[in-house]
Amino acid sequence: MKVLLVFAHPEPRSLNGALRDVAIRELEAQGHEVRVSDLYAMRWKSAVDHADFPSLTPDERLIPVAASKAAFDTGTLTEDVKVEIEKLLWADALILQFPLWWFTMPAILKGWVDRVFAYGFAYGVGEHSDRRWGDRYGEGTLAGKRAMLIVTAGGWEEHYAPRGVNGPIDDLLFPINHGILYYPGYDVLPPFVVFRVDRLDETGFEPLAEGLRERMRTIATTPPIPYRRQNAGDYLVPSMKLRPGLGDPGASGFALHVDDAGTTDRASAA
Ligand code: FAD
Repeated sequence: MKVLLVFAHPEPRSLNGALRDVAIRELEAQGHEVRVSDLYAMRWKSAVDHADFPSLTPDERLIPVAASKAAFDTGTLTEDVKVEIEKLLWADALILQFPLWWFTMPAILKGWVDRVFAYGFAYGVGEHSDRRWGDRYGEGTLAGKRAMLIVTAGGWEEHYAPRGVNGPIDDLLFPINHGILYYPGYDVLPPFVVFRVDRLDETGFEPLAEGLRERMRTIATTPPIPYRRQNAGDYLVPSMKLRPGLGDPGASGFALHVDDAGTTDRASAA
């Protein structure tokens, strides 16, 4: 497989840097081809602004959605964004690696998503009508490819358990896994998350590294999170509410969109 690893930590000698090297070595040992976007090393520009759309005149009002669509359609996205889009099209699998900062990804990585996941490429894809709400959530430009997160967290695993004070880690990562990765079509693998890392020593490192190696060995075969497909009949159109009778009665929130019971026929879903 071809794997793109997008790395968002400012320090190569960090724990994240060490885990990244473990991941790359194992992927290459398995015969995979790996490319890395090291966002801090690249001095990635994270803010969306006027400079992203050179075809706008200097005093023209910036409407980010419209400008993104026009730039994608006319091939006038900036060169740094075009290079990242080309890497995403090249890769069979995408890994986003980052330390959990304020319960989400560092701003530089969010800014990579904001700028690279352009209109017409990652969103605004497919038919939008009163019968269909585009190709998204399981369909889209990146369908058929795999994606996963590698995340380090200072907090204890218990604090991220279903009743933990921080909220469940699956909920905290849902906007990334479902909202950013599943949206343009990726099959999203369960994340590799390591907790309580701030006082980790060298003896604690090896078990983490081995867990990561195992995930890299199985990147092509690990079953994805069974998110419900938007266009496979589980949702009412155009409200996009989950059909009555699906999901646990009384349940609400993120968990509803995971089809643990396997009621959707994914293989035949169009
Ligand atoms: P480092 O600081 O580089 O290393 C961590 C430990 O691993 C060190 O003790 C280091 O010596 C050791 N280590 C062991 N082996 C190695 C090796 N081979 N190479 C390198 N180091 C090794 N945590 C949360 O849980 N939730 C939050 O919302 C949150 N928000 C944060 C916000 C900010 C702005 C910051 C700065 C931190 C936040 N944290 C939070 C903590 C953060 O998630 C951790 O600090 C981070 O995950 C640690 O990863 P690192 O790569 O920076 O580790």
